[in-house]
Order: sequence, then C-alpha cells, then structure tokens
Amino acid sequence: MQDNQHTLRCKYTFEGKGLHTGQKVTMTLEPAPVNFGIKFKRVDLGEDALIDACVDYVTTTARGTTLEKGDVKISTLEHLMATLNGLHIDNALISINAQEVPILDGSALPYVEAIMKDGLQEQDAPRRYFVPAEKFVYRDEQTGSEIVIMPDDEFSVDLMIDYNSKVLGNQYARLTAKTDFASEIAPCRTFVFLHELEPLFKYNLIKGGDLDNAIVIVEHPVPQEELDRLANLFNVNTLERAPEGYLNHLELRFPNECARHKLLDILGDFSLIGMPMKAKVIGYKSGHKINTTVAKLLREAVKAQHNL
Ligand SMILES: [Zn+2]
Repeated sequence: MQDNQHTLRCKYTFEGKGLHTGQKVTMTLEPAPVNFGIKFKRVDLGEDALIDACVDYVTTTARGTTLEKGDVKISTLEHLMATLNGLHIDNALISINAQEVPILDGSALPYVEAIMKDGLQEQDAPRRYFVPAEKFVYRDEQTGSEIVIMPDDEFSVDLMIDYNSKVLGNQYARLTAKTDFASEIAPCRTFVFLHELEPLFKYNLIKGGDLDNAIVIVEHPVPQEELDRLANLFNVNTLERAPEGYLNHLELRFPNECARHKLLDILGDFSLIGMPMKAKVIGYKSGHKINTTVAKLLREAVKAQHNL
C-alpha cells in the first residue's frame, strides 16, 4: 500500500493567549497542496511574512521553541507541531496574528479534537521519509540529557525522565507505530516546578501561565503565606498544595503524564527536520535545547539524503 501525504479537510481557528508573552492570539490552520510542508504566516506583518516550520530557523529554546527569519518570529510552536507530526499531517498553512502560538490547556488535545472530528485528507503524492544512515548519540554533559537515534523500519520514541524529584519519580513513556497519539500522548500537559516559577517571571517568561494550562509540581513543603504571595503574583484567589505534591488538587490525566509530555515535545521539535523519520529514538531527560540541537544535525542529513 502506498503511503501518501495528508493535509487537513477543513479550516480550524483557535483563540487563546501565549504562555510567555501573555498576548491574545488568533490562529488558523488550513489545508495546503502536496509538497507544501508546514508554513507559518504572520498575518499581522503582511502577506509575505511566511516562515517554514524548519529547524534551520530555530533561534532560542528557553522554555519553548522559537523560529525566526528576518522580522518573522513564531514561538512556543512545539505542541501544535507535535499534533501535525503525531497525526501524520504533511501539508498545512498556519496563519497567526501574533508571535506566540496559543497555549490552550498546555497540551495538544484541543488541536487533535478539532482536527479528528473531520479526519484527514489523503493527497495524491507519496510521503517522503528520512532514514538515518547509522546510529547517532548526542549527549549534553552539562545537563546529563541524551538522545540516541537508530535507523529502523518505523518511527518510535522511548523517553525517560529523572529530575531527582520525589513527586515525579523516574518516569518512562513510549510511542510506537501502534500507539494512538490522539488519546495516549496529545492530552499530556506541560509541567513546571513551583520553585522555577519566580525566576521565569523575572526573565519575563510565562506571563500567560495559569493553573489551567500547566501542571505545577510542589517538591518541597511551602508555607501557606508563601503560596498566598504567589497567588497574588499569578492573579488567582488561592493556591493550595495537594498532599501528593501538585498545586490546587490537579488530577493527572496519566500517572506518567510528565514523561508523555516530554515525548510530545520531542515530536514537535523533531517535526522541524521537515520530513517524517524512520528511526528509533531514545530520549533521556530531553528538552527543547537538546531536541533542536539534534534536529539541526538531522536536518543536515535530510538535506544530503534528499538533495534539498
Ligand atoms: Zn511542551
């Protein structure tokens, strides 16, 4: 059976706010022709403000992945890109009227729910794949994170996290060709440790963060007056630490939701190599920095293999 390219069947509009900028944003996904790939268009900057969803344009990876080409900048695109990758969507145009993709509920579920109501449109052209030539290991000595890529007949990811956290413990998540991305990976939300929040505010990040779009992990007991002070900072009425270590009695969607979210992030960042990959990926404590560093190296191999 020939494996063809796919696009969307309809147009979908999402409204929300950027996690880091806090800016209100409207974003529309629409079908695109074969071999178009995934492109972003900053409609607030004019008709020509286009940028390919390609790792060559990645500039910063502080708490999210950012693409930049001239004045055209798109940030925190990883959950949207993970959706397109996870659902095997090859071609789409994404129009957006601000810099940052909306965070929605911190997962990819709102995208998946909208798109899968209609299903995908099969297109009359074969999918092209990148197959790495040999095993490849990248290790970040500073953080101890590591990514291993091995050639394979299909795409799979094995992902482990270990932040020395009593709340999270060591977690493992897996995606193979048999995994249902929509129900198993897409619903998993972004997470942050409570003690990381104030520094992030100081760096002018997470201005759009709230308790509806992130899992907040409380590693150490925090006095209620400290929580009250943070509640003020977040503009919410009260903050409470649940006994199991998550803020405000949040219910996890999976016991290993955080590892599954890291897997979602890898799918988003690796989609920026511009082509689906036939490889086995093993990630240990991965994040946007190592993901995009590896994706940049893979992109060079993609160009060589496909004469781009
Ligand atoms: Zn994420």
